[in-house]
Amino acid sequence: MSDRKPLIAGNWKMNLDHQQAIALVQKIAWTLKDVNHDYDKVEVSVFPPFTDLRSVQTLLDADKLQLVLGAQDISQHESGAYTGEIAGAFLKKLDVRYVLVGHSERRQYHRETDEVVQAKVSAAFKNNLIPVICVGETLEELEEQGAAAVPIRQLEQALSGHKDIGEFVVAYEPVWAIGTGKVATAEQAAEVAKKLRESIEKLVSAEAADASRILYGGSVKSANVAGFLASEEVDGVLVGGASLDVTEFTGICRFQKHVSL
Ligand code: PEP
Repeated sequence: MSDRKPLIAGNWKMNLDHQQAIALVQKIAWTLKDVNHDYDKVEVSVFPPFTDLRSVQTLLDADKLQLVLGAQDISQHESGAYTGEIAGAFLKKLDVRYVLVGHSERRQYHRETDEVVQAKVSAAFKNNLIPVICVGETLEELEEQGAAAVPIRQLEQALSGHKDIGEFVVAYEPVWAIGTGKVATAEQAAEVAKKLRESIEKLVSAEAADASRILYGGSVKSANVAGFLASEEVDGVLVGGASLDVTEFTGICRFQKHVSL
């Protein structure tokens, strides 16, 4: 068993206003409290929309909840005339720990290139935020190049050219599995995660390869999470749709009940 602490990350996407966010976080926290969830063993993080972050931060702080706050995006710029953008420093000030970078929906709908993703990873490092670097292949790319080629190329570009590389997380999310109900097999997720770890060793160091968590994402549910996390290579999951459902999400957080590690 690896020493890496599993991370269960809930990406809410553009769902829930700040009041609904408070209600969901309370329900998640209460449900996990009822089952004595050990946050030191399995970290749980939520990634609400920007407009919810302050409310959720206040709740986590006031009630001393151990859920960790993530954001869904970060500007590559530090400050200035970038209408609509959110700077890393603003996120840090709200006790945000993680930030998604390069999610396929941003690559696809906002035309984020690998260069932009690299610059956003750099902005995260500069602001002491932990980027969750999302990589993954489309169905076409899977058929033409196999599962690992595109994710490895995307990761290489995201991690290139940094003066200092801080802590980071990688989320392997096959694009064809996001929000579609189609899932990669546990074997495919483990195989790609293994190859991504080998590239981290080449690109950064053996220590970073050993310490960095690699998540799987794509239609994860409480019923299929155990298969992914049974592998030594997969250190958690990035969950979209199912993260909005208390029973589903807390069921995912309790994956150790379904899998012997
Ligand atoms: C995601 O948005 O990162 C994701 C994996 O979504 P879903 O779980 O809905 O497929």
